[in-house]
Amino acid sequence: MSSVTKALRSGTVRKDTYERLVCDDCNRQLTTRDRGGVGWRRVCPDCGREWKQLR
Ligand SMILES: [Zn+2]
Repeated sequence: MSSVTKALRSGTVRKDTYERLVCDDCNRQLTTRDRGGVGWRRVCPDCGREWKQLR
């Protein structure tokens, strides 16, 4: 799983005007899932790709 930081750098994920993470391909806001204390998984509900984010 790639990281949110890398995805932002490569343009796969971007931030909208409210600083929310958005999948650039689908133009959908990412959902957040807890990873059990080590951070979050950010998931695009349309294409199903996931990115990890550390706390
Ligand atoms: Zn997507």
